Amino acid sequence: MTDRLIYLDNASTTPLRKEALDAMMPYLTTEFGNPSSLYPMGHHAENAVAEARDTLASLIGAKSSEVFFTSSGSESDNWALKGFAHANKGKGNHIITSAIEHHAVLHACQALEKDGFEVTYLPVDAEGLVRPADFEAAIREDTILASVMMANNEIGTIEPIAELAKIAHEHGVAFHTDAVQAFGHVPIDVDEMGIDMLSSSAHKLGGPKGVGLLYIRRGIKVDNLIDGGQQERGRRAATENVAGIVGYAKAAELAWNEMDAEHDRQLALRDHAIKRILAEIPHSKLNGSWESRLANNVNFSFEFIEGEGMLLQLAAKGLCTSSGSACTSGSLDPSHVLLAIGLPHEIAHGSLRATIGRDTTMEDIDYMVDSLAATLRNLRMMSPLYEDFERGNYDSIIAGYAADGMKNVHA
Ligand SMILES: *Cc1c(COP(=O)(O)O)cnc(C)c1O
Repeated sequence: MTDRLIYLDNASTTPLRKEALDAMMPYLTTEFGNPSSLYPMGHHAENAVAEARDTLASLIGAKSSEVFFTSSGSESDNWALKGFAHANKGKGNHIITSAIEHHAVLHACQALEKDGFEVTYLPVDAEGLVRPADFEAAIREDTILASVMMANNEIGTIEPIAELAKIAHEHGVAFHTDAVQAFGHVPIDVDEMGIDMLSSSAHKLGGPKGVGLLYIRRGIKVDNLIDGGQQERGRRAATENVAGIVGYAKAAELAWNEMDAEHDRQLALRDHAIKRILAEIPHSKLNGSWESRLANNVNFSFEFIEGEGMLLQLAAKGLCTSSGSACTSGSLDPSHVLLAIGLPHEIAHGSLRATIGRDTTMEDIDYMVDSLAATLRNLRMMSPLYEDFERGNYDSIIAGYAADGMKNVHA
């Protein structure tokens, strides 16, 4: 074991930023009023929520009246899909999404199927991109809604959202995007991109856990998911998470101010990691696209190893990484995203996601790659499959199909 702790799992959550905590503190202590109350302390809380809403709306080019706070990215996705589907079922009952969405979208779609809606789960190409031609071909007379994520949480692929939204609108279909991973990392303008609904979550960008937002374009009809009081203009009941909302806006504001510089810095770290792994670790394959990829995402498959053993050995070296998504770790099923980009089960199981954050340094990246190389050498020495391969009794899967430049097949 080591005292070193290197956190490379920023796609699963991020540390709360100091500035966000400072902004939250009054609302966790002295300013504890309920925003619905009529005395001054209530007004202070109400004003803080209103200000946070203005900030977040302006960052994405929305009106404040189009931004609704929720408890999470998962709630926002559920609200967008279920709320829209039920409010618009008179117009049709078909929904289009992609096979690589977060479970909050996929499982909401499955719930809608039980309610009588039909859902098309679009396949993606080998880099995880939805093909616009496939998207257009899937649209039917009765299609009411499409939901495609802005950036994937496992392999970092950035989808052609503006192009897909344009196609959707040409056919009178509304467009939702799960922007939880993209928010704060890439510029977003809901008008320019043609987005009708957008989900985001604070804890993925340096804000607190348990607060999200759903942008709903004016004129888009969405049924309530949470009924009760008149909060959020009667659209989403529950006493506001005042401190969380304030911390969310602070973290988002900082992320937008620092976006260009931080993007370039993280991109250099990412590409250093990718190039070193491809050069130094045999039987490795970069998953996802290299060009259309979040600057903080590194995702590799390694042949002849088993992912859990790799993650545990890395954890013993102080490295916090994941196999792809927090939702699939702890289960033996390979990631639905890696299967959707065409990885066979054997190598989908041996995958690693390292996601860079604001605190990550070049030294951290070098330590990660050094540790990974040593770990894989160890694991392969113990692997019967690797022994077979070395004896010439087994063919490398990665050698067979991955695109050149994205794989290392040299021993
Ligand atoms: C994390 C995540 C969510 C869920 O957000 P929570 O706030 O954790 O519920 C949804 N979609 C994507 C792409 C995510 O990465």
